[in-house]
Amino acid sequence: MNAEKKIHKTDFLVIGSGIAGLSFALKTAQHFKDSTITIITKNEKNECNTKYAQGGISTVWDKTVDSFEKHIEDTLIAGDGICDEEIVKMVVEDAPDRLQELIDWGTKFDKTKDGNYSLGREGGHSQDRILHHKDITGAEIERALIEQVEKKENITFLTYHYAIDLITEHQVKKLPIKRKEKITCFGAYVLDEKKSIVKTFSAKVTMLATGGNGQVYITTTNPVVATGDGIAMAYRAKAEISDVEFIQFHPTALFNPGEYPAFLISEAVRGEGAILRDYYGERFMKKYDDREELASRDIVARAIDNELKKSGTPHVYLDCTHLDYEAFKKHFPNITEKCMSLGIDVRKDYIPVSPAQHYICGGVNINKKAKTSLKNLYASGEVTRSGLHGANRLASNSLLEGLVFSHNACENLKKRFHKIKEPQNVPVWNDSGVVKNMEKILITHDRNEVKTIMSNYVGIVRSNERLLRAERRLRVLYEDNKRLYDHSELSTDLCELRNLITTAYLITQFSKNRKENRGGFYSADLIKKEL
Ligand SMILES: Cc1cc2nc3c(=O)[nH]c(=O)nc-3n(C[C@H](O)[C@H](O)[C@H](O)COP(=O)(O)OP(=O)(O)OC[C@H]3O[C@@H](n4cnc5c(N)ncnc54)[C@H](O)[C@@H]3O)c2cc1C
Repeated sequence: MNAEKKIHKTDFLVIGSGIAGLSFALKTAQHFKDSTITIITKNEKNECNTKYAQGGISTVWDKTVDSFEKHIEDTLIAGDGICDEEIVKMVVEDAPDRLQELIDWGTKFDKTKDGNYSLGREGGHSQDRILHHKDITGAEIERALIEQVEKKENITFLTYHYAIDLITEHQVKKLPIKRKEKITCFGAYVLDEKKSIVKTFSAKVTMLATGGNGQVYITTTNPVVATGDGIAMAYRAKAEISDVEFIQFHPTALFNPGEYPAFLISEAVRGEGAILRDYYGERFMKKYDDREELASRDIVARAIDNELKKSGTPHVYLDCTHLDYEAFKKHFPNITEKCMSLGIDVRKDYIPVSPAQHYICGGVNINKKAKTSLKNLYASGEVTRSGLHGANRLASNSLLEGLVFSHNACENLKKRFHKIKEPQNVPVWNDSGVVKNMEKILITHDRNEVKTIMSNYVGIVRSNERLLRAERRLRVLYEDNKRLYDHSELSTDLCELRNLITTAYLITQFSKNRKENRGGFYSADLIKKEL
């Protein structure tokens, strides 16, 4: 591995090409016509959580039946008391404008026969308010955004470019820095995987839009790129992080052992009236919540987890047999086809489902302008803790979050970009003292170990003893990985492992510090105390 001696200068460095990164790049390119924007992404252009989103985006579209107040209330209820109300209000009220913009960029949402947008409903929503494109909304959004981005001459889009670390005073002044100090971000070190070289990108503004970290768990709906890189990079750069203990487990991933990532059976299916049944065919949600199948995700996921633990069975079922098949197939063609490919005919067969890690509610702290605690580092989307989700995200609010905060970042930069100076004295990557890593298998073993630790001890239901076990085991992994990282030639899988261990450790630490059960955090010890 060589470190390239040249510095790549760009005005805006965007890390990640999901909805948050692409919409930011597009807006910035439209406004700052004479500036250079570089998007780097670690895989194909569209490989990200956004691409897999099925249900859609929530917005108050039809004010004759819905209202901002209701959307705000639903979000606050899901967030279980710790949403930032001002942020929730801002996001909800901004949603129609951001959705209109997405439509203007060419995103196609489904319409009813009378030409109005077809609005779906998901768990936790009191109204039909989800704009969607069949059950492949995210793929449609990525298509439209990438098409627009490719038309912009001032955007350079680099695939298989992996951000290793953010550049701050730590590298520029070669000094250790403390978390509370004034720190500035000057860009990032980036591994060009195809050329096997580390490039240095210096940027006036860096946008962190690296998405989530589902890969810390064995069963997740997130694709393999979701390794928590942004949270770990920001943490190493001493940015403020919070709420990472709030992990959302989706109640209904298709139970199909050996399939990674787990295929999601969208919440919208329950919104259409699908019923949960235990392994033996009995309904059970009434025991847990009056809203039954439409209770928020944490409640439904815990209910299923409890049923599975009590019965020792591997999955429960989702029953769609009573629904209008033609309407179902039209709304959920992807799900219908997937089930059919496994011999599950939704007209007569129940769909086997179990919970899977789906979303991280916390992350890098941002304010309403999408600014992090580091100067000139903005962040947007799933990598952040914005205050919108609180302890639990309301379904279909996360694509929206990325749109709103990327917009706000651009609005803020319109006022201050001209004052930002070009970074000086940014050093190129130092690769002295490393040797080729011959034992790649160690990385695979360690990656599997992180997933096992997190799934066994830091899952849907946690406890003090489980968290202590996780902490001890993660420490050993951290030390082993540090040795490997310091002396080996860099590779994406080695860097990802480092980030997986860091985010796993952060989730564990934040869980240990949480003293009450809320939303996506649940400890068996705390419930005992409450009783
Ligand atoms: C199966 C599934 C269904 C979902 N359904 C919905 C839904 O219906 N509605 C909804 O609102 N939300 C849904 N979500 C959640 C939603 O998709 C995500 O929260 C949202 O897409 C996050 O967008 P993002 O731009 O922040 O991140 P992502 O879309 O995940 O993009 C992150 C980008 O960063 C890149 N990246 C990461 N690390 C690095 C690195 N080190 N260097 C370079 N590039 C890097 C990735 O390759 C990727 O391009 C769903 C999620 C999943 C997994």
